Amino acid sequence: MELWQQMIRDSVHSVDQLVEKFGIDKTVAENLDEFFQARINPYYLSLIRYPGDPIWKQCVPDRAELDDIEGFEDPLQEDAMSPVPNITHRYPDRALFLTTSQCGMYCRFCTRKRKVGNADKISMKELESAFKYLEKHTEIRDVVMSGGDPLMLTDTMLEKILKRLRQIPHLEIIRIGSKMPCVLPHRITPKLVEMIKKYHPIYVNTHFNHPWEITPESSKACEMLANAGIPVSNQAVLMKGVNDDADVMKDLFTKLLKIRVRPYYLYMADETRGANHFRTSLDKGLEIMFKLRGHTSGLAVPHFVIDAPGGGGKIPVLPQYILHRDEDRVVMRNYKNEVYVYREAHLDQKAANNIPVELVTKKNGSNGNGNGNGNGNGSNGNGASKKPKNYKENIDVPELFPMSKN
Ligand code: SF4
Repeated sequence: MELWQQMIRDSVHSVDQLVEKFGIDKTVAENLDEFFQARINPYYLSLIRYPGDPIWKQCVPDRAELDDIEGFEDPLQEDAMSPVPNITHRYPDRALFLTTSQCGMYCRFCTRKRKVGNADKISMKELESAFKYLEKHTEIRDVVMSGGDPLMLTDTMLEKILKRLRQIPHLEIIRIGSKMPCVLPHRITPKLVEMIKKYHPIYVNTHFNHPWEITPESSKACEMLANAGIPVSNQAVLMKGVNDDADVMKDLFTKLLKIRVRPYYLYMADETRGANHFRTSLDKGLEIMFKLRGHTSGLAVPHFVIDAPGGGGKIPVLPQYILHRDEDRVVMRNYKNEVYVYREAHLDQKAANNIPVELVTKKNGSNGNGNGNGNGNGSNGNGASKKPKNYKENIDVPELFPMSKN
């Protein structure tokens, strides 16, 4: 047995352990176990610094899960978009392929609780119909292996799947969605990466949510993947009490870059049953994004998305940067709340000259003189007086997020 498998075996998972280790009332612990079982391996457990900290919140069952009756079992309608068992085909050229129900740690916010945990929630026998579907659908060029966590499979089983996928000529890329680099980095062994790299191009999407998860062990795991030519990206979820803070997020994303992991997505938490206590307002996410963009490398700024309830797919959301748009120009704010004008390409030179490129540079949401062009008379000072079409003198610059120290 490999070390990581032993660590899975040594995980906190029983009702008695929940009572003993975390002081959860026995009846509540039984109900929580019934709702969604716990699995906290010794490595992830060792990252907890104090009760209720961001690591604890992600892995220790909480009675608030039982109070949530509003959430959905399958908020993203993955099952409704499943033409055969273990495949979700939502987007035109890619498909999700569920390969196991097991994970190295069971995240309390998991959106796929209905599929994850008990070994029988995903039947390995049913993988055959999934392969057949992928073979038949030549429009699918990108398959995302998920679960559960595909890296919970043994190297032998994982290789069988990869080999079979690589026999499908139209599958250009294979992505492996795995939280193991974060929750049980011991799974990333030299033998595993040597095997995976035979099936390139392979990408790994991993899932760090807090900077405390970046440890010497997880850094080594990500570097091993990167050294094997496997690009690693991160998908984080915005969660109350875990990472709903711009400084925490900036710390997480910049540290990820240092271990060669590209922050890829930041998700609003899904409307999953039992996870309502993790949800934040959309404004909180927008505020965090506003405090990242421009304040740190663009590489450290993920796409902020809502995975639309009902299966609408990922929808990007952005803070309001465009303040006004007409046929001739776009008026925008930058990361410091300064306002600038971009002139449309169709303008003739005279009309273009009448629109200054820089409208106003006063900080914190004020446009300074309120006339929208920075010189008080609608002219750019070179004598041009013709106003472009739909020229709007007064542009109201609303307050956005108060600028923090970063
Ligand atoms: S690793 Fe992924 S699938 Fe597994 S419990 Fe966590 S969020 Fe759910």
